[in-house]
Amino acid sequence: MQRLFLTVHDVTPKFMEECRQIFEELAKRNIKAFNILVTPNWHGKAPIERNTEFINLVKKQPGTIVLHGYEHKPRKKNAFYEALDLNKGPEFSGIEAAAIDRKLKLGLASLKKAFNIEPRGFVPPYWVYSKRHKKLLEKYFKYYADKRGIDYFEKKFPAVPIIYSGGKYFSTLLAYTSHLRTTFKKEGIIRFALHPDDITYGTFARALKDLDFLLKNGWQPSVYEELIGDFVPEQLL
Ligand SMILES: [Zn+2]
Repeated sequence: MQRLFLTVHDVTPKFMEECRQIFEELAKRNIKAFNILVTPNWHGKAPIERNTEFINLVKKQPGTIVLHGYEHKPRKKNAFYEALDLNKGPEFSGIEAAAIDRKLKLGLASLKKAFNIEPRGFVPPYWVYSKRHKKLLEKYFKYYADKRGIDYFEKKFPAVPIIYSGGKYFSTLLAYTSHLRTTFKKEGIIRFALHPDDITYGTFARALKDLDFLLKNGWQPSVYEELIGDFVPEQLL
């Protein structure tokens, strides 16, 4: 089994042009199964509900929408150590259940308004979510994904995402290690993340080359929803 969980991150009106470019590249490759990670109100300044151009762009995509935080608050400057910590992020760690619940509800309401959907999955910004409040996610979602893997509450699949951007200083290095990782793995699950930042920091071409390599080597584009419930590919058991 070779499942490629392809995600387009930070889908927000703030990065409309970058998102359009990413979607176009996926369409060129005839990829229909991918995860669209929508942030409903980027940094509190880019609400999706009334942005018809954005809504139409996303609606046209064959991928599946997943909730990606609410405001995707930025990391503090000098957040290098925070970035290394699997448990620290600016939006969903270090806050109490009631605050998390409020954010999730706001995010879900935005997606409902914009796309008339109820997403089944949640990916927290920076893949960081407070473990203490995992139960809360079960109220709204069938699965969530963090840096360690994909968690379907009943079952968990470890897989560290392959990424191509990490700000001005680390993107090139990350892209290179990601490139190496794509050449090693032969079976199982690959999580492959594309970010608007890949375009900003010049690593997008590298990401696309690696994507083409994976496709050529039999990796099957998939959506997270494929592993909901009883459906578990036998090679993973
Ligand atoms: Zn993000």
